[in-house]
Amino acid sequence: MSECIFCRIVAKQIPATVVHEDEDTLAFMDIGQVNPGHVLIAVKKHADNIFALDEAQASAVFRSATRVARAIRAAFEPQGLSVYQANGKAAGQTVFHLHIHLVPRYEGDGMALSWPVKNPPREKLAEYAEKIKARLA
Ligand SMILES: [Zn+2]
Repeated sequence: MSECIFCRIVAKQIPATVVHEDEDTLAFMDIGQVNPGHVLIAVKKHADNIFALDEAQASAVFRSATRVARAIRAAFEPQGLSVYQANGKAAGQTVFHLHIHLVPRYEGDGMALSWPVKNPPREKLAEYAEKIKARLA
């Protein structure tokens, strides 16, 4: 069994609230919701960070992120959306498996992110995920 928590999520060994899945990526709700609709896009094949992506993975990750971002916009109508990826401990990363965060932003939100952030119950995540999935259909 892989030691990488994201590889285990991709392998469905750890439950996650999935909003989208394709050949190359898995998109799921972050349990630490900065705002309703916070989604992580993980590349399925393990890559430590963005520097390890090949061209096909890079295209796939951004295609998936763009598609899910549009669904988040349709579902939650945020005033903005932050897209970020961190590399390394000094950047605050604790999981070394490439993933992109999509964070809907609303007027009055601070830009600073802190962990742990709000942790809604899992049924709330399922409700958020359903709203996004409805817009992806
Ligand atoms: Zn991994």
